[in-house]
Amino acid sequence: TRTYIVTGSASGIGAAVADLLRERGQKVIGVDLRNADVEADLSTPEGRQIAADRAVEAAGGSVDAVIACAGISAPIPLTVSVNFFGVTEFLDRLAPVLARSEAPRAVVVSSMASLQPNSPELVDAMLAGDEAMARQIGQKLADQGPQIGYLNYPSSKRALSRWVRRASISELYAGNGIPLNAVAPGTVLTAMTRELLATPEGVKMVDENVPMPLNGHSEPVVIARLLAWLASEENSHLAGQTIYCDGGADASLRGDDI
Ligand code: NAD
Repeated sequence: TRTYIVTGSASGIGAAVADLLRERGQKVIGVDLRNADVEADLSTPEGRQIAADRAVEAAGGSVDAVIACAGISAPIPLTVSVNFFGVTEFLDRLAPVLARSEAPRAVVVSSMASLQPNSPELVDAMLAGDEAMARQIGQKLADQGPQIGYLNYPSSKRALSRWVRRASISELYAGNGIPLNAVAPGTVLTAMTRELLATPEGVKMVDENVPMPLNGHSEPVVIARLLAWLASEENSHLAGQTIYCDGGADASLRGDDI
């Protein structure tokens, strides 16, 4: 049996991967704001520390994999704190614990939105590790209304995918034998998209931005299966990648740009 820490375990993709792993006989410690083994707020530095300490304690001190799913898509700077710092700081705290496992793995959830227009200035502030500056830039975007404020989301995911590339080859991850990767879903049927997909206009808007010629919108278990494989012992050499599990959205939008 392997021990997994899963963030965002109370809903959507995180709940699906926690269920899948438990069905497969694995031990899962869920982390979320509510309805989880460890209830903590990943949007603050203190919350991240509490979440990491309590999750390791609940795991009995040994952790084989971390799957970071918690995220929000609100057009405000809180999105940057949860989606970027709530993942990277949390994982960096856990990496030394993971390093003691015989087959440590780390996976995060990015998004095909990582390919959408974003704020390069905001992306750079996140990658510099400057949360206060990033929040300030994110707030300026939010002040210009929800459409510009939305840039907080694709920027958080662009920064996260770029962080994965850099961190995956660092001493902390590669040096400790920890493959680190991201999965980038297209449109998944979860609480995050429910309201948007409730009206025909919403569906049209989503599908224009995220075309999915292969099999359309996905159930969260589709993403969960890939997360589970990336976090399994079978993955020894896949590292630094963002894998688009998106019904062909990336191929449609980026075309030959590879
Ligand atoms: P969801 O809303 O169903 O689940 C997200 C979970 O994260 C919730 O349980 C929520 O409580 C938790 N969370 C939010 N803020 C938190 C915080 N501060 N501290 C701790 N937990 C917190 O959404 P989902 O669709 O399952 O999203 C999971 C991940 O997938 C997110 O990172 C999201 O950006 C990404 N994603 C989703 C889609 C989609 O179409 N649903 C597409 C691409 C990427």
